[in-house]
Amino acid sequence: MTHDAIRDAVVEHAPELAALTPGRTGNLSVRDGDAFAITPTGVPYDSFDTADVPLVSLDGEHLDGAMDPSSEVPMHRHIYRFDEPGAIVHTHSPYATTLATLHEELPPIHYMIVAVGKRVPVAEYAPYGTEALAKNAVDAMREAQSTATIIENHGLVVTGPDLPTAIENTVHVESLCELYLRAKAIGSTPHELTDDQLDVVLEKFESYGQSDD
Ligand code: 13P
Ligand code: ZN
Repeated sequence: MTHDAIRDAVVEHAPELAALTPGRTGNLSVRDGDAFAITPTGVPYDSFDTADVPLVSLDGEHLDGAMDPSSEVPMHRHIYRFDEPGAIVHTHSPYATTLATLHEELPPIHYMIVAVGKRVPVAEYAPYGTEALAKNAVDAMREAQSTATIIENHGLVVTGPDLPTAIENTVHVESLCELYLRAKAIGSTPHELTDDQLDVVLEKFESYGQSDD
């Protein structure tokens, strides 16, 4: 994708955040090589156009775009440097954020967890927008070998090869957090899939979907 195409993608997909996170919270970005387009800070997700969308280098330099970039540029930048995903979505979605307030990770209670790994860890709290929070998020994802992490007393971060996939995986994680909390609310402990069971799902996922012929 070109720089113009990733800025268009932010305009096209940012309104989808409204269904996932309250008010102006959350943000998303898409990468093209050494730069990424990211939602502007503190504005509603349907209130900007391509010329407004900030383009930021992996060094953190604001290269283009009329509006100021998200306060979470450090987190997006560090995740791109660590893992080189194509896109990142950050939300304060209610079920994942409930686990965030409990400092509890999401265990493998359903096979769809493999969309992001074998569990979703919890990153240690640091104030929003800080280098410390960026480091904590990367550390948690790296340790858990997960493309998602809950952030203590804050929310959720999910990466993906492209923006539609990162958004879809955010929806998956949020729905699994809901299942987990509903099961716990009944008063029992949900059963977890074993490592071997998750490996079988990972193998099956390699050929999931419509065949090419
Ligand atoms: P921005 O509006 O600066 O992206 O901040 C929202 C947020 O969720 C900070 O963590
Ligand atoms: Zn946030």
